[in-house]
Amino acid sequence: NPALTKIGAQMSNLSGVRAIMKDVIETLEASKGKDLINLSAGNPLILPEVEQLWRDCTAQLLASPDYGEVVCRYGSSQGYAPLIEAIVKDFNRRYELNLSARNILLTPGSQSLYFYAANAFGGYTSNGELKQIILPLSPDYTGYGGVCLVPEALIAYKPTLDIDASSHRFKYRPDFSQLAITENTGCVIFSRPCNPTGNVLTDDEVNKIALMAKPHDVPVFIDSAYAPPFPALNFTDMTPKFGGNIVHCMSLSKAGLPGERIGIAIGDERVIEVLQSFQTNMCIHPSRYGQAIAAYAIDSGALVEISKTVIRPFYQNKFTVLESTLDSAMPDSLPWFLHRGEGAIFAWLWLQNLPITDWEFYQRLKEVGVIVVPGSTFFPGLNQEWEHKQQCFRISLTGSDQEITIAMEQLAQVAQTVYQDR
Ligand code: PLP
Repeated sequence: NPALTKIGAQMSNLSGVRAIMKDVIETLEASKGKDLINLSAGNPLILPEVEQLWRDCTAQLLASPDYGEVVCRYGSSQGYAPLIEAIVKDFNRRYELNLSARNILLTPGSQSLYFYAANAFGGYTSNGELKQIILPLSPDYTGYGGVCLVPEALIAYKPTLDIDASSHRFKYRPDFSQLAITENTGCVIFSRPCNPTGNVLTDDEVNKIALMAKPHDVPVFIDSAYAPPFPALNFTDMTPKFGGNIVHCMSLSKAGLPGERIGIAIGDERVIEVLQSFQTNMCIHPSRYGQAIAAYAIDSGALVEISKTVIRPFYQNKFTVLESTLDSAMPDSLPWFLHRGEGAIFAWLWLQNLPITDWEFYQRLKEVGVIVVPGSTFFPGLNQEWEHKQQCFRISLTGSDQEITIAMEQLAQVAQTVYQDR
């Protein structure tokens, strides 16, 4: 094997959930024929109305005189101008903003956007100071663990827990008594709604974080991959935040276009310019075909509409199926707590004082034909012992109603056995 650099070794490691996914794929392959219920996926389902929207937009592009210009030529590193215009127009109207094209950057998926941000603002400065990338509320998106070329820059904060014991529900809150955003902070990143927990930070919590970052001119990247106006995977009211040091980051992946890799950043033009140069160096610009069809879907309002009427109710209903099954199948005597389902496409279950690790529980579930994701991979940057990290599970809402019901009944049985054997 050729010798690897430090960065080479680090980037060729499978981080966090990708390592689990390898185990899931091997399990699925080994079980050929056996009915496994796989609730590990982060991949959204293909909803027929959503697929039709993208077919229609593609037909429109094929019929358009712009087709050659879109696919046969390089474009601007900032992104395809008609998509930028569609976003500016829509967001200015919808949220009464004053955006210009200079506030927008289009990227090949939003994962790349966090890679640019983490490395442009986190890591060592030319005077050798370490600028931290702060994740204010752990657990959070496992992908943030893989985007830092300087791993020691990533610092996550333990949350406080709001527990409603009688209803077996809980919610994470940022611990403002611990959270520190200082002159050593390079940037702040969090997802809202959150993958893996479905948590939505309140408007007050977001304002408070942005305000803490402001005196140090620290950009706050709000990962809105599940937020309104598209894909609108929020089940509780939330107001997207813009302006000042906030960079509002979106993705079309959960709105039916993960394969086309489209990410959107909206923020201060000084920050956008830095990210744009990073992008030019890395990949010149994102694919224009996906951007062109997205421009039609946003400009016509169809994407926002389908998000509200199809995508959101579909996953909200899955969450209801999951929570009502757990409510009836889980014994009241067990210390189980489901995170409030406020959005995204996952449920997050905490089994307090679980006698075995999350990894062992995951193996026990596999034996009864159910696959979920052990939670300990969702704490990137939280480098401290905390038993809670081994007591949680991410359950994807991408199964059929029947699969979700059977899987939660099986989970309840396994949980009962495991606590009894203690
Ligand atoms: N952020 C969050 C919270 C996600 O859940 C995901 C994907 O699952 C991403 C970012 C990356 O999405 P993409 O690069 O497809 O835009």
